[in-house]
Amino acid sequence: MSVRPWRDIIRRKSRQIMVGDVPVGGDAPVTVQTMTNTPTSDAKATIDQIRRCEEAGVDIIRVSCPDVESTTALKQIVRASRVPIVADIHFHYKRALEAADAGAACLRINPGNIGSEQRVQEVINAAKANGCSIRIGVNAGSLEKDLLEKYGEPCPDALVESAMDHIRILQDHDFHEFKVAVKASDQFLAVAAYQQLAEMVDCPLHLGITEAGGFVAGTVKSAIGIGSLLWFGIGDTIRVSLSAEPEDEVRVGFEILKALGIRNRGVRVVSCPSCARQGFDVIRTVQKLEERLQHIRTPMSLSVLGCVVNGPGEARETDIGITGGGAGKHMVYLSGVTDHHVQDADMIDHIVKLVEAKAAEIDAGEATAMEAAE
Ligand code: SF4
Repeated sequence: MSVRPWRDIIRRKSRQIMVGDVPVGGDAPVTVQTMTNTPTSDAKATIDQIRRCEEAGVDIIRVSCPDVESTTALKQIVRASRVPIVADIHFHYKRALEAADAGAACLRINPGNIGSEQRVQEVINAAKANGCSIRIGVNAGSLEKDLLEKYGEPCPDALVESAMDHIRILQDHDFHEFKVAVKASDQFLAVAAYQQLAEMVDCPLHLGITEAGGFVAGTVKSAIGIGSLLWFGIGDTIRVSLSAEPEDEVRVGFEILKALGIRNRGVRVVSCPSCARQGFDVIRTVQKLEERLQHIRTPMSLSVLGCVVNGPGEARETDIGITGGGAGKHMVYLSGVTDHHVQDADMIDHIVKLVEAKAAEIDAGEATAMEAAE
């Protein structure tokens, strides 16, 4: 493989914590999270949504626990979920105690907001007794009043000071299994705060541009904010916040990681915007392929180009390539080499079969290599 130093991302060294059985930080892969939006008290609806997120590849899922009905349902949800559950708690320390007992892998709670010293101690004891980690979640929209007064408005210094205050409380109680987020809906503010915090602490950082917006605008904003930080080497776990379905957040999260070459999952599609030269309808073909290839988890690449202008060049760099030709007859490339033709009508089914076969081949090769290494 050729050396490409211009692609290297040097990751900030953080210490590792566990969220259930998923490591976060250190040399663990950057994980993708989302949050359910069903009433947590409706265990069935929440579990169904978690399943859809699991299919999309989610690593960790957060559920809100605003009331006792939610923490009661949490037991069932934790049992049914294949990925660790983070219980999202605001202010009510009793919910934190109940969530820890219900099997939450992590509590999202800001210790400075829990209240008395005794309550803080109780929550930390419950987290320790149940093997829960804690995520401190500072948010520009809910900064402490004294910090707003001190700084006049949410700014990087204020977010970082808030985070450090919460961190100190955990450290004072000899609790170190925590990660921290300093989110803002303004990506400039969030990025500056994360950069500052990254210099001051060694705990894992949970990245997010909060309330980023709808699917398209929020995706762009998140890609800029989260993407810049990851590119700087900052970030151990990410959550894309969109006014869209949680499984879409997961897909966007993976696309950000894929685009940076940080983590690969499923098919990376290289496709052209299409123009008058296209030999087939590129846009519709890519839409259908993306839909039909969602079940592929194996990292691989597929190029879909409308004609020979850029088709052969892109196909050389991908596992499977298709380049539009004349009279509804298109060239298929396997491992960068021209292999055979396919007709318009059969093209999508044919590519899906090729991708599935390639994924099975890659998986089998990996399994053999692992056996040989044992
Ligand atoms: S690859 Fe061909 S069809 Fe696609 S945009 Fe370029 S020139 Fe147009």
